[in-house]
Amino acid sequence: MSSVVQGFNPRTGEPFGDGVPKTSDSEVDRIASAAAAAFGPWSSLPATERADVLDSLADALDASSELLITTADTETALGVPRLTVELKRTTNQIRLFGEVLREGSYVEATLDTANPDIIPPRPVLRRVLRPLGPVAVFSASNFPFAFSVAGGDTASALASGCPVVVKAHSAHPRTSVETARVVASVLPEGVFGIVYGTESGRALVQHPAIKAAGFTGSTGGGRALFDLAQGRPDPIPFYGELGSVNPTVILPGAATPDIAAGFAQSLTMGVGQFCTNPGLVFAPASIVSALGEAVAASGGGAMLNERMCDSYRASTDALAASDLVTVVSTGTKPDEAWAVEPRLFTVPLETFRDNLEKLTEEHFGPAGIVVTYSDPADLVDVLRRLPGTLTGTVHAAPSDHEAAGVIAEALRHIAGRLIFNAWPTGVAVAWGQHHGGPWPATTNPLHTSVGATSIRRWIAPVTYQSWPDELLPPELQDANPLNIPRRIDGVLGTH
Ligand code: NAP
Repeated sequence: MSSVVQGFNPRTGEPFGDGVPKTSDSEVDRIASAAAAAFGPWSSLPATERADVLDSLADALDASSELLITTADTETALGVPRLTVELKRTTNQIRLFGEVLREGSYVEATLDTANPDIIPPRPVLRRVLRPLGPVAVFSASNFPFAFSVAGGDTASALASGCPVVVKAHSAHPRTSVETARVVASVLPEGVFGIVYGTESGRALVQHPAIKAAGFTGSTGGGRALFDLAQGRPDPIPFYGELGSVNPTVILPGAATPDIAAGFAQSLTMGVGQFCTNPGLVFAPASIVSALGEAVAASGGGAMLNERMCDSYRASTDALAASDLVTVVSTGTKPDEAWAVEPRLFTVPLETFRDNLEKLTEEHFGPAGIVVTYSDPADLVDVLRRLPGTLTGTVHAAPSDHEAAGVIAEALRHIAGRLIFNAWPTGVAVAWGQHHGGPWPATTNPLHTSVGATSIRRWIAPVTYQSWPDELLPPELQDANPLNIPRRIDGVLGTH
């Protein structure tokens, strides 16, 4: 077995750059132990000072953008325009956590004054969220910046006061090396570490110093690591974002040919390698040919790695050869080593319902299935039976609004984000974002991996009972020295 993680150029299939040495168990131990040693100082730094470090990190990544984007483009073939936007999104995401720290409500400071006259009597109670300890972050292949070394899991964990050890994704080792170099140049010693090679990830998630883990990737890989995290003598929280079918319902009033271009664009963006790809569409049969024409007119591209390319070709070929679906159309592809073309299939609702498990298998890439229906009321039971998913989308005209409400109620049981008259690709980084959902969309439906509240994964409550003011964290002191929003005796305010 090779001792290095070798990157490749998906456009040519040729190796790219020097292989990166796999991290040995003893190195994993050294890096995780350094993170444990850094936890105290990093977590006790005032939140506003951690915010300043995060701002410096975002600036440093922006300053290295040319090298980072060129390297990532060679290793992923995602293209310079897309990667330029993704890096900006990544640095803005880091800056958002600076804002979260300065605003301060993320610690949910909650104070109860004493009341000896109620049953049971109440002492002075002060509750706050505190960081868990060093966090393992497994980067994703399809977002070499936004969900990788300096991505959302890393940014939110660092913001919370947790040191981070990243397991680099094997599909972009040189991008990981270059990003890690920038991150390590800004953060204090030990607060950030990185490991390479599949075995190092397994060792990391089982290391006693690691207190939680974040993951974005396949259901199989996520499940394997989740099981390792739960099988530890001291099981730790494992937040995995896994597979997602992203059902889209086009209601009769919205089923016009105008909708087709937006669908094809969302389906084929980034060669369909988005966890929010709209691969499952419920629509009246009248619109299938328009959707098919738009997909036929769209182009594919090189997939992130050979394994994904082979898996897309094999799974869509098997689907085309099955007697369950009809092929509607196939798009084009460039003459590149690991390139694939978009594909669209169709199936009547009855057949879909009878073969739901098989027809909701993920075909990671630019493939979609249109499930045709006659009456929107027939969709409700089927939607409720779909696997957990990150998003659910409804396209509706004003004449469809009553049906849209019924569909939304069905979707909210299985999806973390409900979208109206838009497409699910494109996940805004904001205070109100939720990027999560029931299994297998994630391993924990209570949390999000995008947006301000993703920080909540790395902080746990502690209540201080009857402690003197000067021994309390500043967030809980009487004078509210940080001037943050707090709940006092049930009343929310900056007091
Ligand atoms: P992956 O194979 O699950 O890899 C993600 C991470 O998990 C990598 O660091 C990988 O290590 C590690 N890993 C995988 N299996 C493992 C195991 N059994 N034990 C220990 N570590 C393991 O995901 P991927 O390569 O990014 O993509 C493969 C599939 O994931 C896609 O075809 C798609 O279905 C899905 N996917 C989903 C999302 C999403 O956002 N939900 C994103 C991307 C991909 P190595 O790098 O060393 O292999």
